[in-house]
Amino acid sequence: MPYTDPSRHVVQLHVTEDCLDLPYTREIIGRSGLPVTVLPPGGTPDIAGSYPASLDRGKRHLLLCRNRGRFLKPCPATREYRCCGYQVLNIGMNCPMDCVYCILQAYLNNPWLSFFVNIEDLFAELDHVYDGFPDQFFRIGTGEFTDSLALDSLTGLSPHLVRWMRTRSRGVLELKTKSVAIDNLRGLDHGGRTIVAWSLNSPPIMAREELRTASLEQRLRAAARCAGWGYRLAFHFDPIIWHQGWQEGYRQAIERLFATVPREQIAWISLGALRYLPSLKSIATSRFPGSRFFYEEFIDGLDGKCRYFRDLRVEMYRFIAGELAARAAESTCIYFCMESDTVWRQVFGFIPEERGGLPAMLDRSVS
Ligand code: SF4
Repeated sequence: MPYTDPSRHVVQLHVTEDCLDLPYTREIIGRSGLPVTVLPPGGTPDIAGSYPASLDRGKRHLLLCRNRGRFLKPCPATREYRCCGYQVLNIGMNCPMDCVYCILQAYLNNPWLSFFVNIEDLFAELDHVYDGFPDQFFRIGTGEFTDSLALDSLTGLSPHLVRWMRTRSRGVLELKTKSVAIDNLRGLDHGGRTIVAWSLNSPPIMAREELRTASLEQRLRAAARCAGWGYRLAFHFDPIIWHQGWQEGYRQAIERLFATVPREQIAWISLGALRYLPSLKSIATSRFPGSRFFYEEFIDGLDGKCRYFRDLRVEMYRFIAGELAARAAESTCIYFCMESDTVWRQVFGFIPEERGGLPAMLDRSVS
């Protein structure tokens, strides 16, 4: 069943004692109306069962705690593939939705959801980094270790981020989601510096492999509402998954996309074929035994991740990129997330270096 607000999946809050008296923590506790367990500093929720089977239960528990490390880090890309130079803003870990292919299942080893409530530290760090690099353009995203909006109706973080970004002309904030929890974005003075982004896929993949996410139509309607509020949009066809009827599925998603949202407001669209750490396959297939896509043929990529053979990647990319290019505005940057120069040239006929590099291409589309 499609979910409009995945935060409703959470049934229990856990708060570490050292955060309990923060006004922001109090605000979240009050808003949620959920039972609260108080833990000692550094304490963690007690979720029965062993990982990863415990993820089913763990995704119903939200830990409010302090981030004692850095909030902002460069995207963990690899040298072998073209990366877009993104900055990841770490607002928390794990996600109440449940995609079969989610890399977090292999990347994390805790089943619960975490959200960092020491947001004064987060904004102090953002100020420090932004002011410290006056020549840099920042593309900042919160959707790397969690979904940007899945818990937003509980946490209310997005208005704080959007307001911080509003006056920063050397950057944009990208809020990336598979939910339609956009209510907190309505009526904000965003100054055009926030991009609201959705991951999209072929409808059968969305229905079968993305649990508790919004449907294609729900995502696109939410995107159209955000466009109406003046936000720029982005879309990510990632992971592209081979399945019977994939051409029809991806074509349908693209047709619906351009029939529903104004194309001039789309800043960028990324494409990325399925890639995964070998350890993900056993975790995902044990949790989702009915899922079949891991049993196709893959090769080991230079980054240690399994990928489809290049010929198949290029075939899928050519088809999807062709469908997009036929409809997209000229200003929209269509790009690959983590692909080689060979694939760039085979599909697009050029490599990023010939256009100043991928980060510069993306910066140009929003500056
Ligand atoms: S929405 Fe994103 S973060 Fe959440 S389970 Fe799916 S892939 Fe993982």
